[in-house]
Amino acid sequence: MTVRTRYAPSPTGDPHLGNIRTALFAWLLAKHNGGQFLLRIEDTDRQRFVEGAVEAQMETLRWLGIDWDEGPDKGGPHAPYTQSERLDIYQDHAGRLLASDWAYRCYCSSERLSEVRKAQQARKEPPRYDRHCRDLSAKDRAQREADGAPAVVRFKTPLDGETLTHDALRGEVPFANDTLDDFVILKSDGYPTYHLAAIVDDHLMEITHVLRGEEWISSLPRHVLIYQAFGWDPPVFAHVSRILGSDRAKLSKRHGAHAALTYREMGYLPEAIVNFLALLGWSLDDKTEIIDIDTLIGAFDIDRLLTNPAVFNAEKLEWMNGVYIRNLSPENLAERALPFLEGALGRPVDAQKLAQIAPLIKERIKTLKDVVEMAGFFFTEGPLDYEPELILGKKSFAGAPDRAAQALASVIAAVEALDDWNHEALEGAVRPLAEEMGVKAGELFAVIRVAVTGRTAAPPLFETMAVLGRDLSLERLSAARGLLA
Ligand code: GLU
Repeated sequence: MTVRTRYAPSPTGDPHLGNIRTALFAWLLAKHNGGQFLLRIEDTDRQRFVEGAVEAQMETLRWLGIDWDEGPDKGGPHAPYTQSERLDIYQDHAGRLLASDWAYRCYCSSERLSEVRKAQQARKEPPRYDRHCRDLSAKDRAQREADGAPAVVRFKTPLDGETLTHDALRGEVPFANDTLDDFVILKSDGYPTYHLAAIVDDHLMEITHVLRGEEWISSLPRHVLIYQAFGWDPPVFAHVSRILGSDRAKLSKRHGAHAALTYREMGYLPEAIVNFLALLGWSLDDKTEIIDIDTLIGAFDIDRLLTNPAVFNAEKLEWMNGVYIRNLSPENLAERALPFLEGALGRPVDAQKLAQIAPLIKERIKTLKDVVEMAGFFFTEGPLDYEPELILGKKSFAGAPDRAAQALASVIAAVEALDDWNHEALEGAVRPLAEEMGVKAGELFAVIRVAVTGRTAAPPLFETMAVLGRDLSLERLSAARGLLA
């Protein structure tokens, strides 16, 4: 059996990490089994359709390397893969259920339905359709059709007995049929509901495993009934756990969770996002955190999907991103960070120079965007922008601009005399000065650091000066001295 899975987003907005995690699990299952992964757009709810949402889904998947074998843009043996282009298929299938008496037309007006609902609420009963049209006589039906009354098609749920559902993670769960209602499968405008469209498509597209969010589990008995009505074998269903914030409330921006593409803007690496998402509701061995994509594909199985809610931890994601950044080669880090730096500076940046700087900064950044703060000064032209007090710091030189200016003068004299401008030579020239001045080396270095970088936290000082070069370093040291004078 070829494993075929799908990601079936509704284009109702920008995809969030939770949506993408479901896509990732389905993709991993297909990859693990050498199967196929499909992208299907479930756009039958026209009211909730958002312009650009399909593109955002595709862009997100592409960014994360989650590629699809069949889909709206790619076509495939079961095209089209956009539900609004498949209306005749759903209408045909609704017709089959009408013909086999598994469905009926319902002519109830929305006013009538809302009155029924109100009366049920007043009686403290769960609101559901009262099956008014289920047993209309042939004559009544013919009359309504002749009047051209708008109709929906409802599924004829058995009135008693049980429907046995099976979820790969939760096992068998029976549902009493009298708790289910006669749900709509085709709306009066000819659009199907999710229940009909998803089942018909999963069957026709030969989906073997349906991975979807836990919120769909209550719909499972309806779906099983639809499979029975058509006489089809259902696929394996696996409902993946919910994702909660650290306070165990529904996940939101407040917990640091954003639209998936926002993470790209924030400087996250796609491989870190994939690794992080894979561990939200799945585990390799309960302890390994850093797992590359090949290992994920090799090990992924639905057996290790967890049913407990997964807790989203934004700090862990940031940490993980830092780990992936540190593992990049200097050239690769430079290439990825370049757009962030160029965006901030508003001009092109020399990629080779950035690659030279990469080893100095990679321990100090957690996102690609941090490169702007941590390495921007390497590329700044003209004077740095900082307050003179920053040079003085809070220790020996605090409130003593004259002493700091003198210290800088000594540093300038010592380094100017160097034949070789490298970090060992620079350190060899500067370190002894601290002792002569009677200050700790770190305090003198702090003064120099602000002078050459404009910052108190920066990459290693002498390596930084080596990369900055003799002219720029001396220019900045003199400018700092000038500020204090
Ligand atoms: N269109 C549904 C959603 O976006 C998909 C559910 C499913 O995967 O079947 O929630």
